Amino acid sequence: MRLLILSDIHANVDAFDAVLAAAPRDTWDRAVVLGDLVGYGAEPNAVIERVLSLDPLAVIRGNHDKAACHLAEATDFNHVARAAAVWTAQTLTAEHRMYLERLPQGPMTLDETLEICHGAPFDEDHYIFDGGDASRALDAASRPLCLFGHTHLPVVYRRTALGDGGFTPQAETEFTVKLSPDTRYLINPGSVGQPRDGDPRAAFAIYNSDAMAIRLCRVEYPVEQAQRRIFDAGLPPSLAHRLAVGR
Ligand code: ZN
Repeated sequence: MRLLILSDIHANVDAFDAVLAAAPRDTWDRAVVLGDLVGYGAEPNAVIERVLSLDPLAVIRGNHDKAACHLAEATDFNHVARAAAVWTAQTLTAEHRMYLERLPQGPMTLDETLEICHGAPFDEDHYIFDGGDASRALDAASRPLCLFGHTHLPVVYRRTALGDGGFTPQAETEFTVKLSPDTRYLINPGSVGQPRDGDPRAAFAIYNSDAMAIRLCRVEYPVEQAQRRIFDAGLPPSLAHRLAVGR
């Protein structure tokens, strides 16, 4: 089975469309979404429509999906994120709001080899930023491959008999990780709609469970178009500016 892995789309329909164009329907079997469909970007309804049209195998909620439905509980959000959450809550259709509200919480196991979560397998809202967090997550993961999002930073952590380690994939356009049967993996595909690794291109991955490989991909998209939507929506301008630098 080939799974299209999408994380942190963040209401950026321009980035999402570029990903879907770069990963045509005949190159994967099912889609999996690691949360944060909305928040920050200006097209939450269009992004949810696109996700629904993929008939995804699994979608779990992210903290921004939760915040758009339960504003009062978004106490750890900074000023800009909160303004975007308020705007998103006002902009979502009733149907889409209900869809977000019903999204399950991670972690979720998809089969004998794969588990997904938004933040970490031990806490959906925890950020895995360093090796310590990664080791804790590898301890908690119930499958040899755990895919996560939330930080918007593509990264590959591994646990072998020699210990734990990690690296940042340096991808021109794609980077393939061949999965070894005696290694456990914790992999972040990066963010579709708001990359933060200094590379403004949209990030996504394709996991091929038969070939035991995961391909981390980057694709350019019309950033100015996404920025214009953010300005026109009256969202904080910093949300548009950061897209150009991928931070
Ligand atoms: Zn996010």
